[in-house]
Amino acid sequence: AEEAGAAGEADDAVGLATRHLVQPWPYAGSAGAEARTLIGEGDGIYITDAMGKRLIDGPAGMWCTNVGHRREELARVMYDQSMQLSYNTPWYTMNAPSAQLAQRIAGHAPGDLSHVFFTTGGSTAVETALRFMQFYNNVKGRPDKKLILSRGGAYHGSTYLSASLNGRPRSHDWMDGLDAIAVKLTAPDPFRRPQGMSIEAFGDFLVEEFRDTVARIGAERIGAFIGEPVQASGGVIVPPDNYLKRIREICRVNDILFIADEVVTAFGRLGSIFASGEVFGLDPDMITFAKGVTSGYFPLGGVVISERLLEGLRRSNHPDALFGHGLTYTSHPVGCAVALKNLDLLEGGVLAHAREVAPYFQARLKSLEELPLVGEVRGMGLMACVECVADRESKNPLELDTNVGERIDRHCQELGLLVRPLINMCVMSPPLVITRGQIDTLVDILREGISRTMEELRKEGVWQG
Ligand code: PLP
Repeated sequence: AEEAGAAGEADDAVGLATRHLVQPWPYAGSAGAEARTLIGEGDGIYITDAMGKRLIDGPAGMWCTNVGHRREELARVMYDQSMQLSYNTPWYTMNAPSAQLAQRIAGHAPGDLSHVFFTTGGSTAVETALRFMQFYNNVKGRPDKKLILSRGGAYHGSTYLSASLNGRPRSHDWMDGLDAIAVKLTAPDPFRRPQGMSIEAFGDFLVEEFRDTVARIGAERIGAFIGEPVQASGGVIVPPDNYLKRIREICRVNDILFIADEVVTAFGRLGSIFASGEVFGLDPDMITFAKGVTSGYFPLGGVVISERLLEGLRRSNHPDALFGHGLTYTSHPVGCAVALKNLDLLEGGVLAHAREVAPYFQARLKSLEELPLVGEVRGMGLMACVECVADRESKNPLELDTNVGERIDRHCQELGLLVRPLINMCVMSPPLVITRGQIDTLVDILREGISRTMEELRKEGVWQG
């Protein structure tokens, strides 16, 4: 309620933010008193900061602005839908765009995934999938089958259930979680596999660990496994070949639901609407999605659910059991309308383009491994990660300087590229419409940003690579 700040306090966005805005993922020491890079405009693969500087949007927002900024078709459809019907209650009524979108999405999903429950984003999609699993097992008369298997390096969201499954230590240090519901397995990260072990043997190790865990805990207590086909926020972790398929089989045999969290990997990031089937040969029981479904133009997410599971509910002995779960904005007409148009764009050329430029994107970025600070460049489709290490032998992250990603980001921003820094890693997942020429510019800037960072670290005596 504070008005007119002390003399000198600016009323521009930066001033207002530092007095009134709580940013996501803040540190206690600056909570409610922090400004971040102010972005004024977006156009195609670019965003423009408050100084009028144009930056390539390296992370596509948060892996979401897939068809790029300022797509008039998307803006228009949101306007038209809002003028026709801006909202209706999904409790007692329905709208046509959500039914049409459910059909289109189901048409792209693998196996018997035939139905969609819409949410407000990724966390609520994961939350919905997990609560559905709990409900399903209650109705099936097995209330003890509720534990959830997840993995190190995972990110599934910021709601209480979904966050309890996250595998990155930093997200737990100061936060509460439902430890009792989750069982954490090893991150499927080939780069950090035990020394001397082949990637194939590492895949075997992960599968054995999974099998042993199921045997130790008992399949009758495990409701679901949840995993990102490629772990995104964990650092673009591409798992060993066939590992996911083998996990899927163990789940099938033990009646453990396999949930593919495709919040990042769907809607073109790996060249398909869903990567589970087309890229990994999987038929999950549920797929969660968000982000790219609207290319970030509207907050929307959802869960694609197997016909078999719904049939199981309809045929159960408890037809009166209520799945007491729904959000005010479930099946939002504006979100669903923009998602339909976004699908038109993806199917009408953007997906094909993403598939076409992806090998070039990966190959150009891979050349950064020439730099001594870079331990590995890895990725798939149009998502990649440049991981910096103190030295390649030990693969130790830079111990004296864990914010190397932020340093690279600072240099790159000066040069015209926004990076997504993750401790010692830089994640690149640009809008899918990026051209080869723009990929060249992105990689050239990143190379220069890393070179300047190396120079800086040497000067400070922090690193001598
Ligand atoms: N799942 C995955 C794989 C994600 O990467 C994210 C967000 O980055 C989420 C879930 C949570 O999505 P949201 O931030 O839309 O709630």
